Amino acid sequence: MKIANVSGRAHVVVDGRLVDVEQASRGRLPADPMALIATLGQVGQLPVPNDAPDLDGVRLDPPVPRPSKILGIGLNYRGHAEESGLQIPDEPVVFAKLPSSLIGPTDDIVIPGGRVRVDWEAELVVCIGRRAKRVAEGDAWSYVAGVTAGQDISDREEQFRALRQFTIAKSFDTYSPTGPLLVTPDEIANPDDVGISCTLDGEVVQSSRTSDLIWPVAKLISWCSRACTLEPGDLIFTGTPSGVGDSRQPPRYLAPGNLLETRLEGAGTMRNPVVAGPSYD
Ligand code: ZN
Repeated sequence: MKIANVSGRAHVVVDGRLVDVEQASRGRLPADPMALIATLGQVGQLPVPNDAPDLDGVRLDPPVPRPSKILGIGLNYRGHAEESGLQIPDEPVVFAKLPSSLIGPTDDIVIPGGRVRVDWEAELVVCIGRRAKRVAEGDAWSYVAGVTAGQDISDREEQFRALRQFTIAKSFDTYSPTGPLLVTPDEIANPDDVGISCTLDGEVVQSSRTSDLIWPVAKLISWCSRACTLEPGDLIFTGTPSGVGDSRQPPRYLAPGNLLETRLEGAGTMRNPVVAGPSYD
């Protein structure tokens, strides 16, 4: 199943067309995407109305608009750890991204005036489907509602100042684009081997597969759920492959006028313009 959020209403994509879940089920299923995520097993086959619009051309909101929390994982691809000049940690590195930073797959990434080290990080994002507490690695995928593409936009100046400020650096408003579609694991041939890529103004800057993750999705869910209960709709940004701008020679950063495109196999491609916002100071 592929799920989209159109103006706050949950839709499923059937043969490239958007079907409003609540209307097509005559009220049996909820309109709210957050409520649907907790009841995905009940969706079944839905009739496609004659006037169901084509997916192409419809503006989408984040497929998971109001998670109770978003966790991010640092240094989860060997190539990215190496390009960052950092040792591969022995255990997952976890930080928070605030839900207020979420935007949809075609929304603007707004860089406040004066911020000059803002970077891209294409990532596979996991959405939890049922409450998870101390989950065994072998069971972890059964707690997943679906996956989507995400950008963990990062203000490197803020991130690497004294005492490292990951949470705020990665939680500026608009710094968490997600989408376009939430894809259930059964739609993916091998959910642990999914292509992910990112282009900046048409130039490929990141390209990898999630089979290169140091700690795969199941390990991350098991690890994180030891400490904090994961709720339906919670998101985990699983880390970015090599190719970020901060590690380039010379470094390269996002600037107003750029178009950042992020593709996750099965979930589609996000196209987020970068625009200038009011001064940060
Ligand atoms: Zn990241």
